[in-house]
Amino acid sequence: MAYVIAEPCVGVKDAACVDACPVDCIHPKKDSEKFAENELIYIDPVECIDCGACVPVCPVSAIFAIDDLPEKWAEYAQRNAAYFGK
Ligand code: SF4
Repeated sequence: MAYVIAEPCVGVKDAACVDACPVDCIHPKKDSEKFAENELIYIDPVECIDCGACVPVCPVSAIFAIDDLPEKWAEYAQRNAAYFGK
């Protein structure tokens, strides 16, 4: 299992989750050149330890455990993984 960042993040990219994540698996970061060119940020599905720490800090409730990901945003599981080439 892993957590997934879905559509509510698009165009928001608050990135509070980046600082909340204990294993540094949410990218790109604000100081990365890739930050501007991506419409949302992503969780590495292999590195994520399913702790849930990122969920409450997201101001737009964009982060879901994959089992709870709304069907309409199912594609975001692949989009998150694809960013990391996984
Ligand atoms: Fe990071 Fe935990 Fe969120 Fe996974 S669930 S992205 S490990 S804060």
